[in-house]
Amino acid sequence: KETHVFTSINPATGTPGARYPELTKDEVEQRVARAHDAFLAWRETDYATRTDLLEKIAEQFDANAERLAEIATREMGKTLKSSLAEVQKCAGGFRHYAQNGPAMLESRTFDTAAGKATARWLPMGPVLAVMPWNFPYWQVVRFLAPTIMAGNVGLLKHASLTQGVAAAIEEMVIAAGAPAGVFQNLAIKSDKVADLIADDRIVAVTLTGSEGAGMQVAEAAGRALKKVVLELGGSDPFIVMPSADIDRAAETAVKARIQNTGQSCICAKRMIVHADVYDDFLAKFSAGMKAVTAGDPMDGATDMGPLSSEEQRQTVVDQLAQIQAAGGKLLFGGEALAGKGAYMSAGILVDVPIDDPVAQEELFGPVAMVFKADDIDAAIRLANDVPFGLGSSVWTNDPHERERFERDVAAGMTAVNAMLASAPEAPFGGIKRSGHGRELGPYGLHEFMNLKTVFG
Ligand code: NAP
Repeated sequence: KETHVFTSINPATGTPGARYPELTKDEVEQRVARAHDAFLAWRETDYATRTDLLEKIAEQFDANAERLAEIATREMGKTLKSSLAEVQKCAGGFRHYAQNGPAMLESRTFDTAAGKATARWLPMGPVLAVMPWNFPYWQVVRFLAPTIMAGNVGLLKHASLTQGVAAAIEEMVIAAGAPAGVFQNLAIKSDKVADLIADDRIVAVTLTGSEGAGMQVAEAAGRALKKVVLELGGSDPFIVMPSADIDRAAETAVKARIQNTGQSCICAKRMIVHADVYDDFLAKFSAGMKAVTAGDPMDGATDMGPLSSEEQRQTVVDQLAQIQAAGGKLLFGGEALAGKGAYMSAGILVDVPIDDPVAQEELFGPVAMVFKADDIDAAIRLANDVPFGLGSSVWTNDPHERERFERDVAAGMTAVNAMLASAPEAPFGGIKRSGHGRELGPYGLHEFMNLKTVFG
C-alpha cells in the first residue's frame, strides 16, 4: 500500500516544501512501545534530572532559533519575526518549568479525623498531543515542558501542514540529551488518532485545534475513559467603553485582529463598542486596518503575511460572502489578493446579524466584525452571544465596569486595557465550545498527573 507523504505548500510563494512520509503501522507501534518503556524509567527520575533536561532543550531552541523560525514561516506563512519571537517564547516556556516546576509539585498535608493525609503529585504515563499549525512551536511546548517536568513522556501528532516543525522539535529534544522515548513525533494522519487514544499504554490526550477535531478526540477519549484537555476555537470579544483610552484601544485592536494574519485562537475577532465612542473608535480602527499591508513574511518589515494556505483563505472568503448575504456589510478589505500566495487584505465588517450561523463561527482571517452596544449590559450580552468562551479584551477605566467584565464575560481569560496573550506563568484555556482544562502555570502541569492522597 502506498505511503502517504506530507508536504506543505509555502503559502507565500506556492512552492512545495520538504516531504515527510507517514509512519507505517509498525513504526507507530515501535514508538508507542518506546514511550511506554521510556516512561517506566523517566517516572523515577528526580526533579533535578528533569529541570536539567528542560534547561538544555531551552538552549537548543535558542541556539537554533533562526533555522527553526524559517521552517515555521515556510510551512505556514507567519512573519519571520513572529516565528522568531515564538521560538524565543518556547525557550522561556521550558525555563519557566525548569525554574518553577519543582515548587509546583510540592506535596500538601491535611489534618483529617483519621490523622495526617498527604497529597503527592505523581506522573501518569505517555500523553498524546494533537496540535495545530498556527503557533506550531508554542502549542507543542506548552504541552511538552510540563510533560517532562511531571515525569510523563510525550507523543506528538502535529498538523499535516507543519511536519517540518514537528521533526525539528524532536531534533531539539534529542540534541538536548533526552533519553529515547521521552518525546517522539508521530508523522501520522488524523485518522490514526482514535486508535492511539484507545491504546492502553497511552494515558491521556490533549488537543489544540478546531471544534470538529475536539469532538472526535473527546469522543475517543470518552470511550476509553481517558482524561482530555481541549483548547479549541474562539470568537473573542474586544469591548470598548467610553472611559477607555480610545486611541490605544483602536491601535491595539488592529494588532489583536491581524496577529498571525488573523489565525490565532485568541485574536480579537468581534469589536463591541459603546455607542458614545463608536464613531470615534471605528474611524481610528479603520485607519489602522487600512494601513496594514500583506507582504512577504521573510521580510523583516512585514507585519502581516499570507494565510496558512489557499484553502484557509478560501474558507474565510466564503464565510465573508455568507455573512454579507445575511446582511453584514464589508466596509473594506477581506479580499483575496491576485497573484502568487495566499494573501488577503485586512478588512472590517459592520451590521453583522450576530445570530446568523456563520457570524457565530470563528473567523480565522484578518477581518474584524464591529458591533455597537448601547450600554454595558448590551455589550456583555453580545460578547457572550456566541458558542465560544476562550479569551476577551475589555477597555475601561471605570472600576465598576471592570468588575462587571471580570465577572460576567463568559470566557476563560480577560485582558483589561491590553491585548490578550498567553504567558508561561498564567493558566490558559477556555469554557463553552472553546474547550476545557488549562495549560501553562501550575494548573497546566497538574492536568495530567495523579494527585495521590497518602493517609498516615
Ligand atoms: P484542526 O484542523 O482541528 O487541526 C488540529 C489538529 O487536529 C491537527 O493536528 C489535525 O491534523 C488534527 N485533527 C483534525 N481532525 C482530527 C480528527 N478528527 N481526529 C484527530 N485529530 C484531528 O485545527 P487547525 O486548523 O490546525 O487549527 C486551527 C484551530 O485551532 C482554530 O479553531 C483555532 O482557534 C484552534 N486553536 C485553539 C487554541 C487554543 O489554545 N484554544 C490555540 C490555537 C489554535 P491534520 O492537520 O492532519 O488534519
